[in-house]
Amino acid sequence: MRYLVISDIHGNITALDAVLDTAEGQFDKIWCLGDVVGYGPSPNECVERLNEYEHAAIAGNHDWAVLDKLDVDEFNLNARFAVLWTQNQLTAENRAYLDNLPLYIIEEDIFTLVHGSPRHPIWEYILYPKVAQLNFKHFETPYCFVGHTHSPVIYAEAQTSGICETIIPETETFVQKLNARRLIINPGSVGQPRDGDARASYGILNTNSMEFTLHRVAYDVEAVQKLMQANDFPAKLWNRLAFGY
Ligand SMILES: [Zn+2]
Repeated sequence: MRYLVISDIHGNITALDAVLDTAEGQFDKIWCLGDVVGYGPSPNECVERLNEYEHAAIAGNHDWAVLDKLDVDEFNLNARFAVLWTQNQLTAENRAYLDNLPLYIIEEDIFTLVHGSPRHPIWEYILYPKVAQLNFKHFETPYCFVGHTHSPVIYAEAQTSGICETIIPETETFVQKLNARRLIINPGSVGQPRDGDARASYGILNTNSMEFTLHRVAYDVEAVQKLMQANDFPAKLWNRLAFGY
């Protein structure tokens, strides 16, 4: 099987469509690692587009906030604006879709999918190797896919005690072999990358060759910014898309 591994779409249908168009024919199923909505101007379109494909998805913190499963006061002012705006936009059907998303999924017996971390699926950010290393104890499978930080990264478990290895996938030709070592893999964000590269980020996992590849694709950032301006989104939320932060 070939999986399109995506995360943190955040209501950005333009970025999602750029990913789907570019990856067309290269995957059989989508794995979505949470935060389909929040921040961006097209929450309904993103949920509906996902539903056009065979996919497995889990809940993220923004999905939960929109459903009032999390206190919106936990969010900064701009994120809170987006949560409240999204609440007003979502159709009952799309709300129900988000409400049914599980916190984690195990696929093919060897892949755990969570949004933040296996230890705290909704909230924890795996931003440092030390945190990644602690999290290897909290899932049973050899591999775990996470999102939430909006930056692509791979952590390989330390063989003995110590700190795990951090691999930052930098190039288009990056290929990670899945073999001996346990890995935590973050494919980056589709709709709001934060690693200084404005292009949408996604991964392709091939379970025949056991290879994970990371890809970036440019999308029409200005079109999304205009739509956000037309809906009175705070400038900080649309400005950041151009910088990949
Ligand atoms: Zn997110």
